[in-house]
Amino acid sequence: MARSSKASTDLVHYSIRPADLALHLFEVTLAIASPDPEGQVVSLPAWIPGSYMIREFARNIVQIRAECDGRKLKLTKLDKHSWRAARCDGALTLTYQVYAWDLSVRAAHLDQTHGFFNGTSTFLQVHGKEALPHVVEILPPEPVPGTDDHHPYANWRVATSLRELKARRHRFGSYVADDYDELIDHPVEMGEFTLIRFDAHRVPHEMAITGRVPNLDTARLAADLKKICEQQIALFEPATKRAPMDRYVFLTMAVGDGYGGLEHRASTALLCSRNDLPVKGQPAMSEGYRGFLGLCSHEYFHTWNVKRIKPAVFAPYDLRQENYTPLLWLFEGFTSYYDDLVLVRAGLIDEKTYLGLLAKTLNGVLRGSGRLKQSVAESSFDAWTKYYRQDENAPNAVVSYYTKGSLVALLLDLTIRAGSKGKRSLDDVMRALWRRYGRDFYAAAGGIQDIHDGQRAKGKPHARGVTDADIDALFDEISGLSMKSLLDRAVRGTKDLPLAEAFDKLAVAMTPVTKPAKPSLAVRTRKEGRDCKLASVHEGGAAHDAGLSSGDVLVAIDDLRVTASNLDTLLSRYRVGDTVTLHAFRRDELMRFSVVLKADSAPQYTIESRDKPIAGAKLRKAWLKVRD
Ligand SMILES: [Zn+2]
Repeated sequence: MARSSKASTDLVHYSIRPADLALHLFEVTLAIASPDPEGQVVSLPAWIPGSYMIREFARNIVQIRAECDGRKLKLTKLDKHSWRAARCDGALTLTYQVYAWDLSVRAAHLDQTHGFFNGTSTFLQVHGKEALPHVVEILPPEPVPGTDDHHPYANWRVATSLRELKARRHRFGSYVADDYDELIDHPVEMGEFTLIRFDAHRVPHEMAITGRVPNLDTARLAADLKKICEQQIALFEPATKRAPMDRYVFLTMAVGDGYGGLEHRASTALLCSRNDLPVKGQPAMSEGYRGFLGLCSHEYFHTWNVKRIKPAVFAPYDLRQENYTPLLWLFEGFTSYYDDLVLVRAGLIDEKTYLGLLAKTLNGVLRGSGRLKQSVAESSFDAWTKYYRQDENAPNAVVSYYTKGSLVALLLDLTIRAGSKGKRSLDDVMRALWRRYGRDFYAAAGGIQDIHDGQRAKGKPHARGVTDADIDALFDEISGLSMKSLLDRAVRGTKDLPLAEAFDKLAVAMTPVTKPAKPSLAVRTRKEGRDCKLASVHEGGAAHDAGLSSGDVLVAIDDLRVTASNLDTLLSRYRVGDTVTLHAFRRDELMRFSVVLKADSAPQYTIESRDKPIAGAKLRKAWLKVRD
C-alpha cells in the first residue's frame, strides 16, 4: 500500500481519555475512514514486545461498541483478542473502555494520581491498515462537576516519545506515529510528574518521575544519566556520536517497593523504589541508586540492541502469539553485560565495585542446578513458558538468559580481547551488528511497513533481523578468531563457562572462596506471617536429601520452634554432618524428617584485579576504560 497517496485521507484515528479515575477506566474511540468492505477486523496484542509472556490484554476491554456513520453496527467477537465489524460503507467508529489497574511497566494504570498506558493495552490494531499513519488524540480527565473554580487535574501534563501533531510538548493534544508498530512503541504518562532534562551528544533527553519523592537530587540524576547515554551513543557510533533517535524519554514511576523496566525505540518505562533515587546532600553511591542507574543503562542499551538490532522473528513481531527465538541470550544477556560495564566506563562506579558485581552475578548463576540442564539458547526459546513463568522448581530447571547470558558476553569479550591482543573486542561485534541490521531498521525504504503489507519493494533495503547462523559467522569475521566451538559450549551447552582462564589473560583473579563450612538446608524460604515456608528446595542439598518439599512450613528443629526470622540462628548451633530432627507441616499434616546438615555446596568466587602480567593489566584497563 502506497502510504503517500492515501495518507492524507486514510488514516487510523484514536482518541483516549481517562474516563473514570476511580474505576480505572480509559475510554478509547477509534475512527476508521474507509474500513475493510468485507467487514473490518480489529484485535488487541496478546503480548507486549520486550516482555515475553502471553498476557491477553484484550481481557481488560470492558465494553466495546461499533457504529457505521453514526448508526449502531454489529460487532462479532472472533476469539479472545479479535472482533469483526459488520459491513460498513461509511466511516466506522469503535468505542471501548480499558480497565487500567496494573502497576507495572507492561500494561496500563489509572487513578487520581496519574495515568499510564502502553499502546498494546489500549489501541486496537486495525487489520490491513497497520502501515498507515496512526493519530492519537490524548485528552485530559474532565473537570469534576461542581468544582468549577478548582480543577484537580488542571496541572496534568503528558510525557511520551510519540511525535506531536497538534500538541505542544508535554501537553494534551494530537500525536502521530508512522504505523501501528510505532504507535504501540511509545508508552504515555500523564499527571503531575517531575521533569528532568539533559542533552546527550546533542539529542534532548528527559526523565519524567511520577510518585512522591522528597528531596530528589534532580541535578545529580541528570548528570549521571547524561554520562551513561553519551557512553552508549559513542560505543555504537564512535566517529559521528549520532544517537538513533531524535529525542529520548525515561518514564519513571517511583513507589515504596518496586522494580521493573521495559524498553522502547525512543523511551523506556521504569518502576523503581523511591529509596533508590538520589537524595539532595547525600552524594555517596548507594546500592539502590547504583541499581537504578544500572536499570536505566540496561533499558537505554536496548534502544540499539533489540529495538533496532532484532532477532529475525521480531521483524516484524507477531502480536497474536508467542514469537520463538533462541537468541534472547544475545538481546537480554549482552544488554545485561553492558548495563553495568557502561557504569564503570562512565566513571560512575570503580573497577573494584564492578568486579564485585560480576562476582555476584557469577555466584548467583552457580547456585541453580538448572544451569546444568538448560542452555541459554533453550532458555531463550522457552522464555514464554519457563523463564517468565517461574515456579518453585525454577532454580532446579531453568537458567537465566539474563545472568548467564551476561557471563557469555563477558567470556566472549575477554576471549576476543586476549586473542586479538587488544585490537578487537565485543564492542566491534556490537558495532557490526548495528551497521548491518540496526542502523537502518526503521529508516530502510519501505522498512517494516513493507513486511506488514506482505511485500517488499524491489531493490530497496528492507528491515531484517538476525538469525542464529548470522551470529556465529559474524563472531569469526569480526574477531578474526575461530569462535564456533566456544559459542557452542557457552550458548548451546550446559557446562560451566571457562571464565577463570579468560580472566587470567586480563590480569583478573577469579578465586574460590574458602570460608569455614556453615551447615545449610539449601533452601529458599518465604516469610508467611510468623511462619517460615520453603519457597524452593535446591537439588542435592540437605533438605532435598531428607525429603522436604517447597511449600512445607517449618515448625521446629530439635523441638525448638522455627520462625520466619530465626532459621539461620538455630542452624548456627550445629556443625556440618550433624543430624537434626525437623518437624514441618505439609498442607495441614505434621511430618517429621531426619536431616543430615550439609555445607552450602554452591561454588563461590571473588573476582579481583591484579597488577601482573603488565600486558594483561593493560588489556583490562582498555576493557573497563579505567586509568592508572
Ligand atoms: Zn532487557
